[in-house]
Amino acid sequence: MAGGDIHDVDVHQHFNIQKSGPQPIRVHPNLQDEFLIRIGKPIMGLLFGSPKHDMRRYGFVTLGLTLLSLLFPYYSFYQNPFTVATEGYSLLEAFSLVVVLVTAYFGPFLALKSRETKCPKCGARFSYYERDRLLTNTRRLPGRVLTNYDVTSRCDECQHFETYQDEDVEYDQPSN
Ligand SMILES: [Zn+2]
Repeated sequence: MAGGDIHDVDVHQHFNIQKSGPQPIRVHPNLQDEFLIRIGKPIMGLLFGSPKHDMRRYGFVTLGLTLLSLLFPYYSFYQNPFTVATEGYSLLEAFSLVVVLVTAYFGPFLALKSRETKCPKCGARFSYYERDRLLTNTRRLPGRVLTNYDVTSRCDECQHFETYQDEDVEYDQPSN
């Protein structure tokens, strides 16, 4: 049974085969409201002189202004000084809605964004957000696809960074 020994060696050699996983693929960072992040820091610089500033008062005051600005569409829809169905009438209505949207965008929305982009180490706002996203794995399961990412967020001010895993689930569309 000398041949049997040789066969065993062959079997064990299989354990030495290295399984090379798929190479990670760099994809676009998943940034929402990129424009808000970009303008946030200059706005804070103008108002407070630093990106490290408490934003609660800003949030409260601008929320108040947003609620106040709602009076404008109310006025343009119910007390419009122009004749109904004229260009002036429609323009005033449209303009009043734009005023509300702009106030909300640069007010409460900006305040919320400042919280999301606050550096956990130095506290700078509009400074810490996703910079790098590596697609590491995709698995197809019945009815859904799972995609894994290694995500890195980094701070502009102190260069502090953290890497964490993110998983996306995409459900199949019912085919009918
Ligand atoms: Zn920082």
